[in-house]
Amino acid sequence: MQIQADALQAMRNYFKSGATMTYAFRKKQLLALRSTVLKYQDAISEALYADLKKSEEESFATETGLFLTEVNFAIKNLRRWMQPKYVSSNLLNLPSSNRIYRDPLGVVLIIAPWNYPFQLLMIPLVGALAGGNCAIVKPSELAPATASIVERILNETFSATYVKTTLGDGAIIVPALITNFRFDHIFYTGSIDVGRSIYQMAAADLVPVTLELGGKSPAIIEEDANLPVAARRIALGKFLNAGQTCVAPDYLLLHQNVKDQFMNLLKKAITEFYTDDPSSSNDFCKIINKHRHDKLVSFLSQGKIVYGGAYNRETLYMAPTLMEEVSMETSLMKEEIFGPILPLFSFNTREEAFSVVSRNANPLAFYLFTNNNEAEKEWISRLRFGGGCVNNAVWQVANHHLPFGGVG
Ligand code: NAD
Repeated sequence: MQIQADALQAMRNYFKSGATMTYAFRKKQLLALRSTVLKYQDAISEALYADLKKSEEESFATETGLFLTEVNFAIKNLRRWMQPKYVSSNLLNLPSSNRIYRDPLGVVLIIAPWNYPFQLLMIPLVGALAGGNCAIVKPSELAPATASIVERILNETFSATYVKTTLGDGAIIVPALITNFRFDHIFYTGSIDVGRSIYQMAAADLVPVTLELGGKSPAIIEEDANLPVAARRIALGKFLNAGQTCVAPDYLLLHQNVKDQFMNLLKKAITEFYTDDPSSSNDFCKIINKHRHDKLVSFLSQGKIVYGGAYNRETLYMAPTLMEEVSMETSLMKEEIFGPILPLFSFNTREEAFSVVSRNANPLAFYLFTNNNEAEKEWISRLRFGGGCVNNAVWQVANHHLPFGGVG
């Protein structure tokens, strides 16, 4: 439902009253949020199952658990974060003392996508509330069960002048919000095209924006990698959430000498994780909707399927699929795949692999499997990427001590 201008103004007035400024207030709100989430943990898991067929374990590991870690981290560090930071003075300012104060921004807007519909909304919200802001949150309409439980949790925990949820079609609701009210910050996670349009709308009022967008993240298997470990970690990182993960390995580059061996290990890992029939596995998610399913099916004809390839439009199932002989000029290799399709390429020299990776500048994530320190140093120094792992995939995002985001 669209939020009326007077409700937004009421939030602004609440912020201006200074109510959100104190340590006691912020801590109380974070504790309250944590306890409501714990109360609704089963309902959250059911909603994630309804929207994406996420298993209970996957829901905890990649959604609720990440939120709990974040909120605990904020509660623990809040007092320190709120204190002014003392910095050195300089000759002209002597004998003064110099401090940096971290002020709240005001009323912020958080717009979330459907793929991790709980944590990608709640984690930015923790940051916003720890920072003393009021927030409007916009869950994705494509994950309606999760959007509804998020609304319920936030309505039960907070006053409407402090945190408010808006549901519905983002293409209508978000432009109306941004053009009718000057937010103090917009935090957007989602696709590049929509991100661009939000940035443009926000620019009219010089509203600062944080954009967390998609990308095409490569994984490299060097000749000296521990292949059984690499195969299992790639299988998990890629097929988690049926490949609908912004930092999932998008495509694989395999050293020619280990290609066949690695492929066999990868197939074995997929079968171990999801059985011979992933459509009946409780651990394998579904595609979010028919539109995305159709898009993924269109990718299947752009190369040779060497494993998987089964799908069902009615149940929104698509099997973990490996493809070869894919041209770099196909949409499969030009767009973010965002599904359980993994194109495989082989290389002989590092230079060859580097030239493939360089076709998509500055990937959101980068994964390298090697036991060679020199290879590791070379890849890391030559490539610019948001985040990544050596000898693992995806789990860098679970460490809140590491920064998160893409280049630019
Ligand atoms: P999306 O852009 O379709 O939607 C995201 C949000 O924007 C939703 O809340 C939606 O309601 C809203 N929205 C949709 N159309 C809009 C419009 N015209 N104007 C304003 N708002 C609009 O993105 P999505 O399909 O939900 O998410 C998938 C994308 O998100 C992928 O590209 C993925 O890589 C990216 N992603 C990035 C990260 C990250 O942290 N970098 C994390 C998850 C997903």
